[in-house]
Amino acid sequence: MHFRLLIPISFLLSFTAPPPTSPPTPQTPQTPQTPQTCTHPTWGFFAHKRINRLATMTLPPEMMVFFKPNIDYLTDHAVDPDMRRYASKHEGPRHYIDLDNYGEPPFDQLPRHWVDALLTHTEIWMVNAAGDTSLLIGGRKPLQEVWQRDYKHWFSRQVASRFYQDEETIPVDSLKTFLDFMGRKEKPVAAFYREHLSEHGVLPWNLQRMQRQLTEAFRQRDSRRILKLAADMGHYIGDAHVPLHTTSNYNGQKTGQHGIHGFWESRIPELFADDTYDYFVGKPEYVERTEDWFWQAVFDSNKLVDSVLNFEKALRRSFPQDRQMCPDMRLGTMVVTPCRDFAAAYQESLNNMIERRLRAAIHAVSSAWYTAWVDAGEPDLSNMDKPLMSEEERKEEEELRKTFDRGRIIGRGEDH
Ligand SMILES: [Zn+2]
Ligand SMILES: [Zn+2]
Repeated sequence: MHFRLLIPISFLLSFTAPPPTSPPTPQTPQTPQTPQTCTHPTWGFFAHKRINRLATMTLPPEMMVFFKPNIDYLTDHAVDPDMRRYASKHEGPRHYIDLDNYGEPPFDQLPRHWVDALLTHTEIWMVNAAGDTSLLIGGRKPLQEVWQRDYKHWFSRQVASRFYQDEETIPVDSLKTFLDFMGRKEKPVAAFYREHLSEHGVLPWNLQRMQRQLTEAFRQRDSRRILKLAADMGHYIGDAHVPLHTTSNYNGQKTGQHGIHGFWESRIPELFADDTYDYFVGKPEYVERTEDWFWQAVFDSNKLVDSVLNFEKALRRSFPQDRQMCPDMRLGTMVVTPCRDFAAAYQESLNNMIERRLRAAIHAVSSAWYTAWVDAGEPDLSNMDKPLMSEEERKEEEELRKTFDRGRIIGRGEDH
């Protein structure tokens, strides 16, 4: 969730609904504002913070003894992953997965393990002595069945470990050895890979990896790492519960519903979550197979995509047009957002889906944390080191805030 609920006035004309003709009409003279300057006010990250805070409150006493004193950290840092999207191109894909890119439910062709998925969607390219570049393996050049196992072995060690660094080179000697082993004639002098998985999002795979990391952090009783990973995971699990984080039509841009992302995940919780939502989710549950469980979360979200889009579309037609979008003053800027009554009608037509997904997210976050702790052998958390921030971490955080304030997401647009 990124809470882009603010639509600057200047943006109004591109919104699908016609602007309101009768009051309310904003009367202020408008200084042109770029969307960046008014789309990430600090109060905006409402639901992520709420999810981490409420997940903490449901933990058993053995965990609470450490989590409760750090509840403010877990709450404040629930939005770090969204802020990192302004600093690194590798961050964006962790927040979503375009399931429609992989066919229809039950998505049998979709590899559930990250290495398998990367293997399927990565090409290996070589450069020869004459300087010519050619595709060696992957894409249009699939490898023969008989070599698949060896390729996977080589790929996991030599290629997968290099992903998400800025260089995309592969050690050429190891590639040569592998080519010799297969009896191939090519003689590369350099090699690199091209990965086509991340552009469609890696949310569930990344959660699998983080679950292992959090378990390890509990095993080490590494207080700083536990908190950092727990806060981050709370964020990504929250995203996994948002239907529009599981489709390439993430902001209704393919169906003429631009702006629906922020409407669903930001505007509605902001209007109604405090007064009307029931947050009682009960105790966390131990999850036997977290790998499958993360997949199930995104599949469940994905089942709701049609309703999210169709009900909004229907409502736009039936609801009085001049009462759909309202001006609002935010941090000194006049913006246009869905009106309260219109938002309430949408929420009702969805049969409180947003409240249900928020509750499911809270329960999933506490269950993921709890499962990691159990899998680590239920370490004693009562006398943990006070997690002080190192000088390096402090600088990193400062840098993160600076890039965030500059306000440019690297990668996919700001509504995902
Ligand atoms: Zn979002
Ligand atoms: Zn996010």
